Amino acid sequence: MDSKAYEVERISVSTCIVGTGAAGYNAACRLKRLGQEDILLVSENRLGGTSRNTGSDKQTYYKLTLSGDCPDSVYEMAKTMFDGKAVDGDIALCEAALSSRCFLRLAELGLPFPTNRYGEYVGYKTDHDPRTRATSIGPYTSREMTRALEKEAGELGVPFRDHLQVIRIISDGERCHGLICLDTDRTERPHYVVIKSENVVYATGGPAGMYSASVYPQSQHGSSGIAFEAGVKGRNLTEWQFGLASVNPRWNVSGTYMQALPRFVSTDKDGKDEREFLMDFFRSPEEMLSNVFLKGYQWPFDVRKVEGGSSVIDILVYLESCKGRRVFLDFTHDPVDGKFSFDGLNPEAYQYISKANALVRTPIERLRVMNQPAIDFYRDKGVDLEGQYLEIALCAQHNNGGLDLDMWWQSNIRGFFVAGEVAGSHGVYRPGGSALNAGQVGSTRCAQYIAGSRSKNDPDGADFESLASGALKEMTSVFSETVSGSSNVVDLIRHFEEGMSKHCGAVRDPEAMKGFLSEVNEMIEGFTGKVRYSDPRDLKLVYRLRDMLISQKCYIESMIDYLISGGKSRGSALYHDKNGRRPYKELPEAFTFSLDDGSKDSLIQEMSYKDGSCTFSWRKVRSIPQDDDFFENVWREFRKDGNIR
Ligand SMILES: Cc1cc2nc3c(=O)[nH]c(=O)nc-3n(C[C@H](O)[C@H](O)[C@H](O)COP(=O)(O)OP(=O)(O)OC[C@H]3O[C@@H](n4cnc5c(N)ncnc54)[C@H](O)[C@@H]3O)c2cc1C
Repeated sequence: MDSKAYEVERISVSTCIVGTGAAGYNAACRLKRLGQEDILLVSENRLGGTSRNTGSDKQTYYKLTLSGDCPDSVYEMAKTMFDGKAVDGDIALCEAALSSRCFLRLAELGLPFPTNRYGEYVGYKTDHDPRTRATSIGPYTSREMTRALEKEAGELGVPFRDHLQVIRIISDGERCHGLICLDTDRTERPHYVVIKSENVVYATGGPAGMYSASVYPQSQHGSSGIAFEAGVKGRNLTEWQFGLASVNPRWNVSGTYMQALPRFVSTDKDGKDEREFLMDFFRSPEEMLSNVFLKGYQWPFDVRKVEGGSSVIDILVYLESCKGRRVFLDFTHDPVDGKFSFDGLNPEAYQYISKANALVRTPIERLRVMNQPAIDFYRDKGVDLEGQYLEIALCAQHNNGGLDLDMWWQSNIRGFFVAGEVAGSHGVYRPGGSALNAGQVGSTRCAQYIAGSRSKNDPDGADFESLASGALKEMTSVFSETVSGSSNVVDLIRHFEEGMSKHCGAVRDPEAMKGFLSEVNEMIEGFTGKVRYSDPRDLKLVYRLRDMLISQKCYIESMIDYLISGGKSRGSALYHDKNGRRPYKELPEAFTFSLDDGSKDSLIQEMSYKDGSCTFSWRKVRSIPQDDDFFENVWREFRKDGNIR
């Protein structure tokens, strides 16, 4: 299949795992341990992705309670996740049932989750958590998980190819047949790798590349668009988490960064015309600072906390950015020239800061008393909070929705499994830390299913050859028909990322979304005529742009369908509604909105993308199964097939 213009390599394996985040590595290790030898792990960048390159003040892992006398159960934990709204009960039950098993495995791999003197894994309470199920090893829980799992994959001898960017999924719309990758190491002429593979574990992370205002690491782009193209359904695509984060380095400014009560300032594009803008809104410095304090542990933007709550801070930052101004945290000076009294803060804030012995002047001093490592962190990344301002924005952080999955994390396309953030297992809200739990559970479940069921009964499809050559022809035409000339691909990526953040982020105006959707549609339709590139090394960006545009289309159309179906503001999304209420007269008209009335809490929106169009359906969530688990009956069935069905 070699031609002069490009070359093609072929590989055949039983299962291909895509992605070297915490989910991808875990899937590979589990498969290997379950006896699956004919596997291959591929990644566009071994060192990229969210798990390895992100963290937070205290990065949280959510697990079943394993300490103390606080009652907990698998069912109760499942109920907590189910209560996040628009969540399937069987998936929530699996995430709870395998929680201890996956967590203890990580602990056994050497992750230093803290225990008390008696060996109990003590926990703390996180958001949307009625218990104290959260734990952490510090700022870099997901990075250390990734490293530990990578080490295990190496020891198990998992075959691995780096710098293979999946650009197409070979599917007949019902069944997965394999993948087409671009080998981005080979830049002289395009080198495509066609992988024939009856199972794919897709662990490509969240579609971070769609947004410019983002706290995902720069190296995480996601690849959900090509999965939609292959016929994989999307679900709950409207549901995200947005929050305040520094833009360089990308890091959530949660916890003590807010509790130290920094000064919020904005400047023009050149860093001039500095002003403290929050006081345009609040009636007193104490009211403003009490809300800043609360933002510390009410981190994600929550539309229910706009009126009378801390999320108005997110809105004010967003508004300032919309004026074309840059927003910063200043730790070096007290807000409003120090003209506030600590005892005028709300009691919660006052008591906390007082208990922490941080009733001192200037934010940097308060931060030093409460959390010196928080200062060290930025210094290590080149920002000295003692002398420099920290630029922030309202950023995309996590996609709660994603690709379709059943209780074995298999999508609607047979043989195509999804694990980690790319899988849409969450709904409107989720307990903090449940993303990492879900990634470990999902990757375990799909490995169990592949080893227990798939390897026996899905014979080679005769269609592979024709499907693969058709798909390859289309993919090479992207490269051969694209206009050559000085490259505009980076500018195009930036343009569409910015449009997405502006119109389809935490604040969504229906008319603006529709306008932006038309632009995305036009770009998709005229893709090859509009994209120019000259350097062969840019080809990977051309495919990334293509994926991103399909993703954006599917996500924006989901948001529009949500509104057409009567959806209102919920979770981390504020939809403009001219018939709604504007909670504060100081906010522009665009902030007139209505809160959702809960009528969609037990419905899941599903999206299918075919021949360039999106179609939607809504279905009721599956409830949490309550089987009569009589031991002898479960055991008898288990002896037959491990209950993998
Ligand atoms: C700032 C921040 C803080 C967070 N804090 C928490 C927290 O406290 N608790 C919590 O539970 N979660 C948290 N999360 C979310 C959590 O970290 C992620 O959901 C999780 O790490 C995702 O893991 P993953 O394995 O699914 O994907 P990733 O780690 O993103 O890995 C994706 C992999 O797929 C590869 N890939 C992508 N596309 C392709 C392609 N086309 N071809 C080949 N390879 C490809 C990438 O290179 C990468 O290796 C946080 C996220 C952020 C951004």
